[in-house]
Amino acid sequence: MKSSARPLRARIRLDAIRHNYRYAKRLAPTARALAVIKANAYGHGAVAVARALAGEADGYAVACVDEALELRESGIRGPILLLEGVFAPEEIVVADRAGLAMAVHCAEQLDWVLSARPSGRLDCWIKVDTGMHRLGLAPSEAGSVHARLAACPHVGQLVAMTHLARADELEHPRTKAQLATFEQAFAGLSISRSLANSAAILGWPETHGDWTRPGLMLYGASPLADGAALASPLQPAMTLESAIISVRELAAGEPVGYGGRFVCDRPTRVGVAAIGYADGYPRHARDGTPLAVKGRPTRLIGRVSMDMITLDLTGMEDVGVGDPVELWGETVAAGDVADASDTIAYQLFTGVSRRVPLIHADF
Ligand SMILES: *Cc1c(COP(=O)(O)O)cnc(C)c1O
Repeated sequence: MKSSARPLRARIRLDAIRHNYRYAKRLAPTARALAVIKANAYGHGAVAVARALAGEADGYAVACVDEALELRESGIRGPILLLEGVFAPEEIVVADRAGLAMAVHCAEQLDWVLSARPSGRLDCWIKVDTGMHRLGLAPSEAGSVHARLAACPHVGQLVAMTHLARADELEHPRTKAQLATFEQAFAGLSISRSLANSAAILGWPETHGDWTRPGLMLYGASPLADGAALASPLQPAMTLESAIISVRELAAGEPVGYGGRFVCDRPTRVGVAAIGYADGYPRHARDGTPLAVKGRPTRLIGRVSMDMITLDLTGMEDVGVGDPVELWGETVAAGDVADASDTIAYQLFTGVSRRVPLIHADF
């Protein structure tokens, strides 16, 4: 990898992630915030991100034991929550040893926790299904599950948790309904509460509770369909960058790339950049998908190949081989690339492949 001169890389600004974490805390000033760094911190490098937030993050959240152990083995301390809990009772042994908190979202996990013999106490986040209908106990079970866990001598801290299905739609009534169901499920119990993902942190203050769970917003992209003003303080953390490796001039009527999807409607200067779908650039990106060359906006033309893309350099006579191409980052919003590719920024970030070196910078 190191010896390759292929000009593709993802530059990650750790100071931007810290800025975005602080913004999440400022929006919910009385809550603590678990930095969600599952899936290698949404492709940004989990260990580097955790270290950048060490000393300020109230804790971290990941999807599985392997992700948590990578952090512990790199010296990351503090609370780490397994968002889906354990996948088998044996994992409770690992969680106990590594000091991991776990979601308890089903009867099986409850049994595993109650019958475990840990050396320490297990912190459990009781996850209730308030309308997402993916994971979670029925709201009617919340009280009895809470009672059984609270009475168990090897159970430590308890937190009440749910996940919101439509918090990104700022006018949608579903979020208020989920909140009401949640409050009813835990009514009268003195237990910490956690509901808010990034969209809810930005758009639904009434869901902030005691622990928020910011993910996407840490990386500087907005989960909101609308609400640009709320998201405008976010700083993009990842700049995916390559360079022009070839330039040609084509006459009107000439096709570009596989299938001739794009046909020049005028004399066209076409650049080729070293990035393709094997690097994580979306293969479904349409003609016109935004990108930037030397900081100036232009567009994708032609189908995305495995290792290359073609782009429009018409009117950019000064651009040549070696000039930088930004796929997304500071000039081009990842969300706009996602919109032009029928996907979401989450998938773009997590899809950046192993072939792309992550270059971390901190300021
Ligand atoms: C991934 C995840 C989050 C973070 O969601 P964002 O939309 O990225 O902020 C929060 N809670 C749970 C349960 C998750 O799985």
